[in-house]
Amino acid sequence: MIYLDNAATTKPNKGAFDRATAYVTEKFYNPSALYKEGFAMQGELKKARSVLLSRVADESAFELVFTSCGTESDNQAIFSFARRGNAVTTAGEHSAVSVAFHELKTRGIAEPRFAPLNKDGSVNVEKLLALVDEKTSFVSVMHVNNEIGAINDINKIAKLVKEKNPRVIFHSDGVQAYGKLPFKLAKEVDLYSISAHKIGGLKGVGALIKRKSLVLPAYLIGGGQESGRRSGTENTFGIMQFVYAAEEKFATIKEDYARLTDYRERLWELLDKEVYIRLSAENGTPYILSVSAQGLRGEILLHMADDKGLIVGTGSACSSNAKNRYSKVVLACGYDEKTADGVLRLSFSPETTEEDVERAARILNEIGLDLKKRMK
Ligand code: PLP
Repeated sequence: MIYLDNAATTKPNKGAFDRATAYVTEKFYNPSALYKEGFAMQGELKKARSVLLSRVADESAFELVFTSCGTESDNQAIFSFARRGNAVTTAGEHSAVSVAFHELKTRGIAEPRFAPLNKDGSVNVEKLLALVDEKTSFVSVMHVNNEIGAINDINKIAKLVKEKNPRVIFHSDGVQAYGKLPFKLAKEVDLYSISAHKIGGLKGVGALIKRKSLVLPAYLIGGGQESGRRSGTENTFGIMQFVYAAEEKFATIKEDYARLTDYRERLWELLDKEVYIRLSAENGTPYILSVSAQGLRGEILLHMADDKGLIVGTGSACSSNAKNRYSKVVLACGYDEKTADGVLRLSFSPETTEEDVERAARILNEIGLDLKKRMK
């Protein structure tokens, strides 16, 4: 089986899984407990926070709140800081952000504004800035697009947004970037969402990184965990394995970036251009190659590939149940419905091998030509 749907979720890292088991079976103590075992857990959580944070941010300026997933981190940021007036985001966001922005309108909180995308899936920065005015309370721009793989220069965009309106709270969804792109958060970014299961961790744990001076309202109230911002006994096994997975990823982040760039290009080189067109730009993340078999249905190809032992995606796994047949993000890049219908998202992890890539290309060419013949 070749697994090329790592943008949906990654196979849990064996070491991370073992680490989780140890915290389920042995070190299961409540970190708020007063005896020494509980106290020791509190210390371990502190270290865990520091490891996850220090990889992408200056610890003197930022802190980290654990959550249950990337979606919770995005929702927490949006519903905490989008206020009266308007809130600006992009047409490329994951549903964890885009649906929450629509909800701002439904709940009468703020007017959501969506900035258009460039052909490569990145946000059109000029048009985004034109939407920001003195009534804008909140701006959210994803770091790496989960469908096309475009990278937004969030540090630069945050700076430009704040030059226009310094009161704006700037958030970025970093779920597809954390542990994959080498970068550090600039001081203009106030909030940043991350998730464990995209980097070899287990599902059910994420975090919201925040600028220290920003007051985050309590999202869940009760026992006062996470400095009162998110009550609930900490998911210690989830957190500890998240740290393990992140340490592994960050240790080889630059080598993986370079190798996967080669694999992405190799896969594209091997794909039959009579069947596939390329949507992902060369300057996007090396972890995602999005293509379209124009005139064919991506969903049918996905099942044909599955039958031959190749798992791929058609776009965002989280919106595959949506009524809308066509990816809004692909349409927002300016592609027509025929192109949007044929999208396949091929996404890699550091475990992907060159052989996987070559075998995947053979299967994709075979099923693409087969379906094309049958459609005639
Ligand atoms: N944001 C992006 C860009 C994603 O790709 C995903 C997951 O696909 C999410 C948010 C949601 O993360 P989680 O599955 O941890 O809720």
